Amino acid sequence: MILYGVKQGKYYNIDNFKQDLSDMEEKGFQRKIYINVTNKCNCACTFCLRNTKDMNEHNSLWLDRDTTAAEIIAAFEQYHWGNLEEVIFCGFGEPTMCMDVVIEAARYLKEKHPQIRTRMNTNGSGNRHNNRDITKELKGLIDTISISLNASDAKKYYEITRSRYGEEAYEDMLDFAVKCKQYIPNVVLTIVDCIGKEEIAACRQVCKERNLTLRIRPFES
Ligand code: SF4
Repeated sequence: MILYGVKQGKYYNIDNFKQDLSDMEEKGFQRKIYINVTNKCNCACTFCLRNTKDMNEHNSLWLDRDTTAAEIIAAFEQYHWGNLEEVIFCGFGEPTMCMDVVIEAARYLKEKHPQIRTRMNTNGSGNRHNNRDITKELKGLIDTISISLNASDAKKYYEITRSRYGEEAYEDMLDFAVKCKQYIPNVVLTIVDCIGKEEIAACRQVCKERNLTLRIRPFES
């Protein structure tokens, strides 16, 4: 599925809701819709749903191929968006690996529904993957970027993410986050709450040194 809502860690196709999305709250959802952009990823995180759940072609979020911007826009146009607060680009993979799609779909959203906030969830590899600074391309299109910090140093980060780019991926990710601050109103780095007090404190310090905002979110198994 391309567009979906999330409740208690489960994914529900947008067609579970009325066309004007007015029943999301009464069904226990936040007024947020997620966009499943791609399955591709340049990390292989130990905790990733792609690895830990029965993630194959039978899973409804698994895509046979990357979603196109035209498909996302066609899916948008089947619904009324007056009741929606936020749209989130994510996917079972890394959305910055499909930057053209993210940009075209976000531009459409901002033109047609400027009242809806936009967010992208990313592992922060976008500049490295695309071999250019993509942060400026997100200006005016993405309101919030949520970047997985995962760990307080490069070695721990690589052990968790098993990034294609090795331990260098950690500094790349932090550099990406700092650059995003020039163009995106809300830049948030995230960790999960189960990594221990010392590691959480060390992550706080990493963010403090770079004037980055840290969010500690509950771990969902
Ligand atoms: S970066 Fe995200 S999609 Fe990629 S492996 Fe890690 S958790 Fe999964």
